[in-house]
Amino acid sequence: MKKLIVANWKMNPLTSEEAKILFNQVKETGAVICPPFVYLSALKANGAQDCFFEEKGAFTGEISPQMLKNLGVEYVILGHSERRKYQKETDETAEKKLKAALAAGLKPILCIDKISQLPKDIKRGFIAAYEPIFAIGTGKPCPPEKAEKMRISIQKKVKVLVLYGGSVNAQNAGDYIKKAHFDGLLVGGASLKPREFIDIVRIAC
Ligand code: PEP
Repeated sequence: MKKLIVANWKMNPLTSEEAKILFNQVKETGAVICPPFVYLSALKANGAQDCFFEEKGAFTGEISPQMLKNLGVEYVILGHSERRKYQKETDETAEKKLKAALAAGLKPILCIDKISQLPKDIKRGFIAAYEPIFAIGTGKPCPPEKAEKMRISIQKKVKVLVLYGGSVNAQNAGDYIKKAHFDGLLVGGASLKPREFIDIVRIAC
Protein backbone atom coordinates (compact mmCIF):
# COMPACT_ATOMS: atom_id res chain seq x y z
CA MET A 1 0.00 0.00 0.00
CA LYS A 2 1.24 3.51 -0.82
CA LYS A 3 2.50 5.41 2.21
CA LEU A 4 1.05 8.72 3.37
CA ILE A 5 3.72 11.40 3.67
CA VAL A 6 2.68 14.69 5.23
CA ALA A 7 4.73 17.91 5.18
CA ASN A 8 4.11 20.24 8.12
CA TRP A 9 5.68 23.57 7.15
CA LYS A 10 4.72 25.02 10.56
CA MET A 11 5.10 28.87 10.51
CA ASN A 12 7.32 28.92 7.39
CA PRO A 13 8.27 30.42 4.97
CA LEU A 14 7.98 34.19 5.43
CA THR A 15 6.76 35.19 1.95
CA SER A 16 4.27 33.85 -0.58
CA GLU A 17 7.03 33.87 -3.23
CA GLU A 18 9.14 31.49 -1.14
CA ALA A 19 6.07 29.36 -0.45
CA LYS A 20 5.34 29.06 -4.19
CA ILE A 21 8.93 28.09 -4.98
CA LEU A 22 9.01 25.42 -2.26
CA PHE A 23 5.57 24.09 -3.21
CA ASN A 24 6.49 23.81 -6.89
CA GLN A 25 9.61 21.86 -5.96
CA VAL A 26 7.75 19.22 -3.93
CA LYS A 27 4.22 19.05 -5.34
CA GLU A 28 5.02 16.20 -7.76
CA THR A 29 5.85 13.91 -4.84
CA GLY A 30 2.14 13.34 -4.17
CA ALA A 31 2.69 14.16 -0.49
CA VAL A 32 0.16 16.07 1.61
CA ILE A 33 1.55 19.61 1.95
CA CYS A 34 0.35 21.65 4.93
CA PRO A 35 1.46 25.28 4.56
CA PRO A 36 0.34 28.16 6.81
CA PHE A 37 -3.31 29.21 6.20
CA VAL A 38 -2.31 32.40 4.34
CA TYR A 39 -0.78 30.40 1.48
CA LEU A 40 -3.50 27.74 1.14
CA SER A 41 -5.54 29.39 -1.63
CA ALA A 42 -2.65 30.49 -3.80
CA LEU A 43 -0.98 27.09 -3.62
CA LYS A 44 -4.18 25.03 -3.79
CA ALA A 45 -2.52 22.87 -1.12
CA ASN A 46 -4.21 19.66 0.01
CA GLY A 47 -3.41 19.96 3.74
CA ALA A 48 -3.82 22.42 6.62
CA GLN A 49 -2.21 22.65 10.05
CA ASP A 50 -5.29 23.16 12.21
CA CYS A 51 -8.97 24.15 12.19
CA PHE A 52 -11.58 25.24 14.72
CA PHE A 53 -14.49 23.11 15.92
CA GLU A 54 -17.32 25.47 14.89
CA GLU A 55 -18.58 25.88 11.33
CA LYS A 56 -18.88 29.71 11.26
CA GLY A 57 -19.65 32.73 13.41
CA ALA A 58 -18.07 35.02 16.00
CA PHE A 59 -14.75 33.23 16.50
CA THR A 60 -12.15 35.85 15.67
CA GLY A 61 -8.98 34.48 14.14
CA GLU A 62 -10.31 30.96 13.64
CA ILE A 63 -10.67 28.92 10.43
CA SER A 64 -13.46 26.37 10.15
CA PRO A 65 -13.26 22.84 8.75
CA GLN A 66 -15.97 23.77 6.24
CA MET A 67 -13.87 26.72 5.00
CA LEU A 68 -10.96 24.35 4.40
CA LYS A 69 -13.19 21.86 2.64
CA ASN A 70 -14.61 24.62 0.44
CA LEU A 71 -11.05 25.58 -0.57
CA GLY A 72 -10.35 22.03 -1.72
CA VAL A 73 -8.25 21.02 1.30
CA GLU A 74 -8.39 17.27 2.01
CA TYR A 75 -6.32 16.71 5.19
CA VAL A 76 -5.96 18.66 8.43
CA ILE A 77 -3.41 18.20 11.23
CA LEU A 78 -5.01 18.41 14.69
CA GLY A 79 -3.69 18.39 18.24
CA HIS A 80 -0.08 19.07 17.24
CA SER A 81 2.18 19.28 20.31
CA GLU A 82 3.16 22.85 19.42
CA ARG A 83 -0.51 23.87 19.55
CA ARG A 84 -0.93 22.01 22.84
CA LYS A 85 2.12 23.90 24.17
CA TYR A 86 1.61 27.44 22.82
CA GLN A 87 -2.20 27.60 22.36
CA LYS A 88 -2.93 25.44 25.40
CA GLU A 89 -4.96 22.98 23.33
CA THR A 90 -6.22 19.99 25.27
CA ASP A 91 -7.29 16.45 24.42
CA GLU A 92 -10.89 17.70 24.68
CA THR A 93 -10.45 20.51 22.13
CA ALA A 94 -8.53 18.18 19.84
CA GLU A 95 -11.42 15.69 19.96
CA LYS A 96 -14.00 18.43 19.27
CA LYS A 97 -11.93 19.54 16.28
CA LEU A 98 -11.63 15.93 15.13
CA LYS A 99 -15.42 15.49 15.18
CA ALA A 100 -15.96 18.80 13.34
CA ALA A 101 -13.33 17.97 10.71
CA LEU A 102 -14.89 14.56 10.07
CA ALA A 103 -18.35 16.13 9.80
CA ALA A 104 -16.99 18.54 7.17
CA GLY A 105 -15.61 15.63 5.14
CA LEU A 106 -11.93 16.30 5.89
CA LYS A 107 -9.36 13.60 6.71
CA PRO A 108 -8.00 14.61 10.13
CA ILE A 109 -4.50 13.65 11.29
CA LEU A 110 -4.54 13.56 15.09
CA CYS A 111 -1.11 13.99 16.70
CA ILE A 112 -0.56 12.14 19.97
CA ASP A 113 2.38 11.27 22.13
CA LYS A 114 0.55 8.97 24.50
CA ILE A 115 -2.30 6.49 24.20
CA SER A 116 -4.47 8.53 26.60
CA GLN A 117 -4.63 11.27 23.92
CA LEU A 118 -6.61 9.04 21.56
CA PRO A 119 -10.21 10.22 21.18
CA LYS A 120 -12.73 8.85 23.66
CA ASP A 121 -15.66 8.48 21.24
CA ILE A 122 -14.12 8.02 17.81
CA LYS A 123 -12.52 4.70 16.91
CA ARG A 124 -12.03 5.02 13.15
CA GLY A 125 -12.18 7.42 10.20
CA PHE A 126 -9.17 9.52 11.15
CA ILE A 127 -5.39 9.14 10.87
CA ALA A 128 -3.19 9.04 13.98
CA ALA A 129 0.34 10.44 14.09
CA TYR A 130 2.63 9.18 16.85
CA GLU A 131 4.78 12.19 17.62
CA PRO A 132 6.88 11.74 20.77
CA ILE A 133 7.48 15.23 22.21
CA PHE A 134 11.20 14.61 22.77
CA ALA A 135 11.64 13.93 19.05
CA ILE A 136 9.82 16.92 17.58
CA GLY A 137 12.19 19.46 16.07
CA THR A 138 15.06 18.19 18.25
CA GLY A 139 17.08 16.04 15.85
CA LYS A 140 16.57 13.17 18.33
CA PRO A 141 14.31 10.67 16.55
CA CYS A 142 12.56 7.93 18.48
CA PRO A 143 14.26 4.53 18.07
CA PRO A 144 12.17 2.61 15.50
CA GLU A 145 11.72 -0.39 17.88
CA LYS A 146 10.21 1.89 20.54
CA ALA A 147 8.05 3.70 17.97
CA GLU A 148 6.78 0.36 16.64
CA LYS A 149 5.57 -0.66 20.12
CA MET A 150 3.53 2.52 20.25
CA ARG A 151 2.15 1.95 16.74
CA ILE A 152 0.99 -1.52 17.78
CA SER A 153 -0.62 -0.17 20.97
CA ILE A 154 -2.45 2.54 19.00
CA GLN A 155 -3.74 0.05 16.43
CA LYS A 156 -5.02 -2.21 19.24
CA LYS A 157 -7.26 0.65 20.37
CA VAL A 158 -8.36 2.22 17.08
CA LYS A 159 -8.67 0.97 13.51
CA VAL A 160 -6.71 3.76 11.82
CA LEU A 161 -3.57 4.40 9.78
CA VAL A 162 -0.66 5.51 11.97
CA LEU A 163 2.09 7.91 10.89
CA TYR A 164 5.39 8.50 12.68
CA GLY A 165 6.61 12.07 13.24
CA GLY A 166 9.64 13.47 15.04
CA SER A 167 12.99 14.41 13.48
CA VAL A 168 12.36 12.35 10.34
CA ASN A 169 15.08 12.76 7.73
CA ALA A 170 16.30 10.96 4.63
CA GLN A 171 18.56 8.73 6.75
CA ASN A 172 15.92 7.39 9.15
CA ALA A 173 12.71 7.58 7.04
CA GLY A 174 13.05 4.03 5.73
CA ASP A 175 13.35 2.56 9.24
CA TYR A 176 9.92 3.81 10.31
CA ILE A 177 8.30 2.33 7.22
CA LYS A 178 10.27 -0.89 6.73
CA LYS A 179 11.26 -1.80 10.30
CA ALA A 180 8.52 -0.20 12.40
CA HIS A 181 5.75 -0.67 9.76
CA PHE A 182 4.17 2.76 10.01
CA ASP A 183 1.64 3.74 7.34
CA GLY A 184 3.44 6.99 6.62
CA LEU A 185 5.38 9.92 8.03
CA LEU A 186 4.67 13.41 9.35
CA VAL A 187 7.67 15.54 8.47
CA GLY A 188 8.36 18.98 9.96
CA GLY A 189 11.81 20.56 9.57
CA ALA A 190 12.95 18.32 6.71
CA SER A 191 9.85 19.23 4.66
CA LEU A 192 11.36 22.71 4.19
CA LYS A 193 14.38 21.22 2.41
CA PRO A 194 13.03 20.21 -0.99
CA ARG A 195 15.79 17.81 -1.99
CA GLU A 196 15.70 15.99 1.34
CA PHE A 197 11.90 15.88 1.36
CA ILE A 198 11.81 14.39 -2.15
CA ASP A 199 14.31 11.76 -0.95
CA ILE A 200 12.16 10.98 2.09
CA VAL A 201 9.11 10.39 -0.09
CA ARG A 202 11.10 8.25 -2.50
CA ILE A 203 12.57 6.13 0.31
CA ALA A 204 9.25 5.72 2.12
CA CYS A 205 6.95 4.97 -0.81
C1 PEP B 1 6.15 17.99 13.22
O1 PEP B 1 6.11 19.19 13.03
O2 PEP B 1 5.11 17.36 13.31
C2 PEP B 1 7.46 17.34 13.34
C3 PEP B 1 7.49 16.05 13.52
O3 PEP B 1 8.58 18.13 13.24
P1 PEP B 1 10.08 17.64 12.98
O4 PEP B 1 10.05 16.71 11.80
O5 PEP B 1 10.82 18.91 12.68
O6 PEP B 1 10.55 16.96 14.21
